[in-house]
Amino acid sequence: MLELPFEPPVQQLEHPLFAAKQVSVHMKREDLVHPFISGNKWRKLKYVLADARAQDKNLLVSFGGAYSNHLVALACAGAMCGFKTVAFVRGEAVSNHMLGLCKTWGMQLHFVSRELYRDKDALFNRHFSDHPEAYYIDEGGRGELAMQGCAEILNSVQGFTHVSCACGTGTTLAGLSMAAQAKGMQADGIAVLKHEALDEDVRKLVPALHNWRVHHGYERGGYAKTDAALMSFIRDFAGNTGILLDQVYTAKMMMAVLALLEQDHYAPGSRLLLVHTGGLLGLLSQV
Ligand SMILES: *Cc1c(COP(=O)(O)O)cnc(C)c1O
Repeated sequence: MLELPFEPPVQQLEHPLFAAKQVSVHMKREDLVHPFISGNKWRKLKYVLADARAQDKNLLVSFGGAYSNHLVALACAGAMCGFKTVAFVRGEAVSNHMLGLCKTWGMQLHFVSRELYRDKDALFNRHFSDHPEAYYIDEGGRGELAMQGCAEILNSVQGFTHVSCACGTGTTLAGLSMAAQAKGMQADGIAVLKHEALDEDVRKLVPALHNWRVHHGYERGGYAKTDAALMSFIRDFAGNTGILLDQVYTAKMMMAVLALLEQDHYAPGSRLLLVHTGGLLGLLSQV
């Protein structure tokens, strides 16, 4: 149903540090999959939507903040595949370009207080217990089915020693770890929020795997927090490569990988694959 329009390309990156540390670095451009179902969100939704269809559910209900890449992707994918969509949005009613897009695709938005938002099951049950066609999708699309889809990011990839991605819920890292295990690779996740339980969340998804690690300390003040150095890094990177990074996820991942290289985390001869997980709509509120 949500079949990939094309396999995103792998692109080599140049940087003086890569040569100095004798590593090669490539980026898997998942951001190019689709302008709105961008990056890992396509991968995460693929089997979730297939499952909803298989269960004859035609109303997708999910959750997110006011700048949620997941909600934009879900609104668009839902419209493409013939589902109705509803979202519970955390916090007081606001409007922005991302929620505006959600509404354009017909997503119904319910703003709820932070307190109510905390109990998502209760929200779903209160509003949709008598809607047999409603299908619950957790925040960020997290979970087992999403992980299966993310494992496919490495389907056509050969010859790397490490794969890295930004971590929100850790679902993408878990999927990459599964696929990396089969290829003898290590998977590095960069936490973009201060969340001690992130490691535990990944472990729950892939209890038997040990080829992954979450790197903490690169969240630069916390989730969606920005600073002048981060924004200037985004401009330099864009100017040098043509590739846009977003301030919430991928720029923090890229800066962390450079820091890890500085610390000799990667042995000479390592071949790194960085996953560009998308998220570029969020950048539009900052530039
Ligand atoms: C949603 C998102 C992530 C986080 O993925 P998880 O599977 O929740 O860890 C990373 N990068 C971007 C750009 C995202 O939109």
